[in-house]
Amino acid sequence: MAINWTEAQVAELVAKVVKEIRSEQPVPQKNWDSTQYNGRKFKGIYAAMEEAIAAAEAGYRAIRAMSVAEREKLIASIREYCRAEAATLANLGVTETKMGRVDHKTAKHILVADKTPGTEDIVAEAKTGDHGLTLTERAPFGVVGAITPSTNPSETVICNSIGMIAAGNGVVFNPHPGAIATSNYAVDLVNRAVHAAGGPEVLVASMIKPTLDSANIMYKHPSIRLLVCTGGPGVVRSVLSSGKKAIGAGAGNPPVIVDDTADIDKAAKDIIDGCTFDNNLPCIAEKEVFVFENVADRLIAGMQKNGCLLLTRAQADALAEVVLVKKTDPKTGKISYAVSRECVGRDARVILEKIGVHVGPEIRCAIAEVPFEHLFVQQELMMPILGIVRVKNIDEAIDLACKAEHGNRHTAHMHSKNIDNLSRFAKAVETTIFVKNAPSYAGIGFGGEGHTTFTIAGPTGEGITSAKSFTRLRRCVMADHFRII
Ligand code: NAD
Repeated sequence: MAINWTEAQVAELVAKVVKEIRSEQPVPQKNWDSTQYNGRKFKGIYAAMEEAIAAAEAGYRAIRAMSVAEREKLIASIREYCRAEAATLANLGVTETKMGRVDHKTAKHILVADKTPGTEDIVAEAKTGDHGLTLTERAPFGVVGAITPSTNPSETVICNSIGMIAAGNGVVFNPHPGAIATSNYAVDLVNRAVHAAGGPEVLVASMIKPTLDSANIMYKHPSIRLLVCTGGPGVVRSVLSSGKKAIGAGAGNPPVIVDDTADIDKAAKDIIDGCTFDNNLPCIAEKEVFVFENVADRLIAGMQKNGCLLLTRAQADALAEVVLVKKTDPKTGKISYAVSRECVGRDARVILEKIGVHVGPEIRCAIAEVPFEHLFVQQELMMPILGIVRVKNIDEAIDLACKAEHGNRHTAHMHSKNIDNLSRFAKAVETTIFVKNAPSYAGIGFGGEGHTTFTIAGPTGEGITSAKSFTRLRRCVMADHFRII
């Protein structure tokens, strides 16, 4: 299944996606409903979490009787449905959440369809020796409980479903309430695809109205053997304290270092292409830049050539007040910030209007030179705004970039031709993903080698999750026999 995409293939995909988008009708508002789309009632959507779990469990039992080859047919069918309905899912996601871009979301769904590993990821291990044969196989957990975010809603549901089903599991989702129609469309798509390929009618299930209470029922239910959570720090913490085996894919704040050996024009373009992909919603996207002072002006000029508006410091401060909501703890007086949902994933043009700056759609990102302490550096904004900090040398760059990453160990980027500098930062930052001389999305297989995922499990260590992450190891021992030498 591994696909090694050349630049020409990526260009071809983008052209295909753009063509599909042009032929796609906008989604009428009356159709965002968590139970149906255009009169087609969704399969696998329930009012009560217990009902959803029972349905996914019945689905799991049905696929237990299937061979791996039959299971792979289910996966092939999900890929096909996902490709065919990528533009519809993208349109629905943008309409419902008001976040992201239809063209980029379409590309993300095609990426999920093409590069999420299937059953080939489940590999058994055999060891032989004087005492016979020991076989280690990857078995399903049973029913996986999954929490999904609003930022990549249907991408995550389909990507999780491919991996979890390839591993032999059924799945119950408790999706983000702000993206429930899109998430449930994706749940229905998976069920339609599975059923069309000879599987049960319902293998993945979800809620009509997911809540924190329904998530808690899922955490405690005895049929749920594995929890997989993709989201911000709060929900990852809650899932990790559930007392169950859990995979946590949490927040990031990916820094970028640009040193003075980098191809500066390419670095400027790559950083802005990555930072603006789906309006900065992916957790891997570039969030702040540390650039050597002797190449900073050239980098900024390169970014301006690539659709960026350079803000004054006063504009940057005004924008920070608008895009972040300040909170003061009444007991401790401690100040914290939350991103304004009005701004997450919006077009740069829309965000800039909030401070009275009017630009056209050619402006895809707002950039600003700021000190290290600035909110544009410290906060995970998830919108096309990029703080830029000048640094004297590689020591200062690495020190500040590691601090800005806040120990999430999620993702970091670097543009350089100096192998020593690249290696030093890669080692120091300890992130799950480290991208060199490319846009951030190369780190999830878009224009880069390797498989994709929308669940990057830094906190619990599974990394770029795939089918094998959703399995449990079982050993079978035959003593003294089944050895042929
Ligand atoms: P969010 O944290 O607001 O919500 C995620 C999900 O958790 C939703 O379904 C929400 O309803 C639920 N939830 C929130 N608090 C909960 C609690 N205490 N108990 C149970 N459920 C709870 O996430 P979002 O804003 O949709 O997504 C953005 C965040 O997710 C960012 O921080 C981003 O970095 C992160 N993210 C990480 C990855 C990854 O792979 N590591 C991928 C996508 C998003």
